[in-house]
Amino acid sequence: MIGISHASVKKNFSSDKKGRSIRPFPFRIVPVTLLHMKREPVLTSNHQNKSQPVSPQQETSFEKEREEDRVLRPQKMSEMIGQREVFERLMISIKAAQKRKETLGHVLLDGPPGLGKTTFATCIPRELGVPMQIGNGATLKSPKDILPYLTNAETGSILFIDEIHRMPKTVEEFLYPAMEDFRIDIVIGEGVGARTVNMPLKRFTLIGATTRTGLISAPLRDRFQIQEHLDFYSFDELAAIVHRSASKLNIKIDEDAAYEIAVRSRGTPRLANNRLRWVRDYADSKDHTVVTFALTQDAFEMKGIDILGLDPQDKRVLDTILEVFSGGPVGLETLAHTLNLEPDTLSDEVEPFLLRSKLLIRTPKGRCLTEKGFRHLGAIPPSNASHDTPLFND
Ligand code: ADP
Repeated sequence: MIGISHASVKKNFSSDKKGRSIRPFPFRIVPVTLLHMKREPVLTSNHQNKSQPVSPQQETSFEKEREEDRVLRPQKMSEMIGQREVFERLMISIKAAQKRKETLGHVLLDGPPGLGKTTFATCIPRELGVPMQIGNGATLKSPKDILPYLTNAETGSILFIDEIHRMPKTVEEFLYPAMEDFRIDIVIGEGVGARTVNMPLKRFTLIGATTRTGLISAPLRDRFQIQEHLDFYSFDELAAIVHRSASKLNIKIDEDAAYEIAVRSRGTPRLANNRLRWVRDYADSKDHTVVTFALTQDAFEMKGIDILGLDPQDKRVLDTILEVFSGGPVGLETLAHTLNLEPDTLSDEVEPFLLRSKLLIRTPKGRCLTEKGFRHLGAIPPSNASHDTPLFND
């Protein structure tokens, strides 16, 4: 529930001179076409380092990248490559909702960054032909922050909340009746004079995206009728994404070069696009008009991206576990502090691919290198090193 004073209710729920009711909170629905990209690369982005000043030239180049991101992001569900099962299940729910002229059930999308959660979330309203509003869990600090989105939601429209796990408990609880019964409970006044007013909402669809389903409370999670997990992409799927992006950016690229970019993109479309652009820049700087396999390898070598697609940051994590903690176990916080990284960045962005690649395992005592991890670093694994299979999951 949310507490609002009499004065503010009167101010926000008033009527005009002709007695027509004025919509509470004059926030606009954001048309889907105005959506713009969120953060750029999965990792190691200068954009994210807000403490560094940005020169006008850098700003222009960021703007160019953002524009390219807009061009590359699929606009329709049918343009999405990979995630076939998720795609098919979502399409069934969308078509069923359209056929019955009902509002789509609430959707929760989870998975590591850069795998297409936002892309799915922005394609769904286009598919349904409904408007969309976008919020971010990190900025919804109290119920009053989410109230305008709820009161502005039109029938059948989509409210997309990225990083939904970052909403505090009070906001989560305020959402329960909004999601379930399409109403919100507002407490008017204070003390003994306080009373609760139920305010009806239009039937809307909430799409939540998260890199951390574990941080979402069970009651909130259970209110999403559709829950989908996005997994890393196969090399073939990423190669198809690279070809599609190359043709949108007018880059001529050989088949094996596209595949090499796919192999070195950590199973992540956002990285595949970023790495394609790096190889394009490298080719341009060397006056090559076609991106070839050999050129792609040179470009990756210069960037420090190895044959598994690990970048210098990934390698620093593995090296630190090997050199400072003798291969582990080491706790997440300790490792993050040693690397001068945020624990969230380590667990959400770096670790998933290292775990998936079986270079690292999680145990109750902490993170350990696997035998494959030792060998990838050119080290000899100790006799008790894990054979890639976690004994326990934490
Ligand atoms: P997330 O929200 O999971 O962090 P995004 O939806 O922002 O990831 O995806 C990052 C970029 O990767 C998008 O801008 C798009 O260009 C590309 N992308 C993601 N998923 C796909 C896909 N299935 N097919 C083609 N491109 C994709």
